[in-house]
Amino acid sequence: MAVARPLWSEACDGVRRPALEGDLEVDVAVVGAGCSGLWAARELLSCVPSLRVAVLEAREVGFGASGRNGGWCSGDLPVTLDELSDAVGRDAALRLQLDAFAAVDGVGAAAAADGIECDWAKEGSLVVASNPAHVERLRAAEAAWRRHGVGPDDVRFEPPEAVAARVRTAEVHGGLFNAHCAVLHPRKLVDGLARAVESRGGTVHERTPVSAVAPGVLQSPRGRVRAGRIIRATEAYGGRDRRFVPLYSLMVATEPLPPPVWDEIGWARRVAVADGRNMVTYAQRTADGRIAFGGRGAPYHLGSRVRDRYDAVRPVHRRLADAIRDLFPAASGASITHEWGGALAAPRDWRARVVRTGDGVAVGGYVGDGVALSYLAGRTAAHAVLDDGHELLGSPLLAAPGPRWEPEPLRWVGINGLLALTSLADAVESRTRRPARRLLAVRDAFL
Ligand SMILES: Cc1cc2nc3c(=O)[nH]c(=O)nc-3n(C[C@H](O)[C@H](O)[C@H](O)COP(=O)(O)OP(=O)(O)OC[C@H]3O[C@@H](n4cnc5c(N)ncnc54)[C@H](O)[C@@H]3O)c2cc1C
Repeated sequence: MAVARPLWSEACDGVRRPALEGDLEVDVAVVGAGCSGLWAARELLSCVPSLRVAVLEAREVGFGASGRNGGWCSGDLPVTLDELSDAVGRDAALRLQLDAFAAVDGVGAAAAADGIECDWAKEGSLVVASNPAHVERLRAAEAAWRRHGVGPDDVRFEPPEAVAARVRTAEVHGGLFNAHCAVLHPRKLVDGLARAVESRGGTVHERTPVSAVAPGVLQSPRGRVRAGRIIRATEAYGGRDRRFVPLYSLMVATEPLPPPVWDEIGWARRVAVADGRNMVTYAQRTADGRIAFGGRGAPYHLGSRVRDRYDAVRPVHRRLADAIRDLFPAASGASITHEWGGALAAPRDWRARVVRTGDGVAVGGYVGDGVALSYLAGRTAAHAVLDDGHELLGSPLLAAPGPRWEPEPLRWVGINGLLALTSLADAVESRTRRPARRLLAVRDAFL
């Protein structure tokens, strides 16, 4: 019987931080102790060690997506380069993409510098065409990278033999390899970041929900914080806001697999693996030899509600376990030991942002790519607050607020309709072994 909590929480460092009691005055208050807030706080204190910085967290460090994710630290952006170029221009789009690539190494280097042991392994990512229907999409993605000047050392379509040398799924028809991806242990990273903030003189208060923000004042149940500047880093857990919707992503993890099973799967190094189907489906080989496997498809809840109980959706967890068995038959006897889920923030135009507010900035909207992007966005947020002329102030991440999602119940119908069409397209492709072009065109017309 699987336990209903993130695999990663087994390695939680157990540090408990006091809630805020009484009033406090700081230069910068950060709301939310996920990776965005903690990278921002770390950067502030690295640049100006004398700054008074407090991070206020409603639950505990890493309670949100940062402590639950799939551990892909990837240079992917949630939008395609075509879409991003339309929005910000070709050069700015490429700049952001190259910054996102560099953010992967930035995370690894910063973790190493702070002595954060987070099971880091940079072996790239591989989206496997496990059905001939996937090949056309992955080839088209490769062509789009080339159009934008990204070369084969960075991203390339690989033939079946090359893919099988990295990992052997039940069927392999090729795959899209991206060199800019590492895998890591999310909880070890986020716990380590909190310690890194504290070691630089910042404070982190857990069980301190910010209930209201008036100009320069944050209210929490047992104390008020006066802050010169405020960084809001609450992503999908920060309450309803029509600029993004909370999308649920769910995960399962197997027990540690014995060496003969790994030999058969041929997943010797820790390349991050995704399946080429339409519904986002991704996996990592963990440092302790498990498969941690995640995917979308859980329902969107009316009114953008986020609740602990939405983390468990039986049919989706079952589908993820089935997908492990389908892709890796050698692992079909492995027990599923953990099942969990969490919410991530999807902006209407799929663009992550750092937005200036009257009293500071708000940061987030990474869809499913926040592990490396939060490093870039968190640091950009810090420099926006410092207003110090840093080169990140030229980043296209620093942008005006994005468009709003449709009002309810249109939003509910639309998002769940898109999820259903995506599942249907996968079912059609798995039956016909041909791309479900028409169905996907209908879906994309609504995106
Ligand atoms: C299951 C899952 C798998 C994922 N897999 C990947 C992956 O493999 N790779 C990848 O790049 N991305 C992945 N993501 C996305 C990634 O985890 C997020 O984009 C990223 O962690 C967001 O970090 P954050 O700090 O902005 O937000 P969060 O980590 O969500 O942190 C926000 C914090 O704000 C706190 N908060 C909210 N409201 C308040 C308040 N009023 N007062 C005080 N505190 C408050 C919350 O408690 C929470 O701790 C995944 C997400 C999920 C859910």
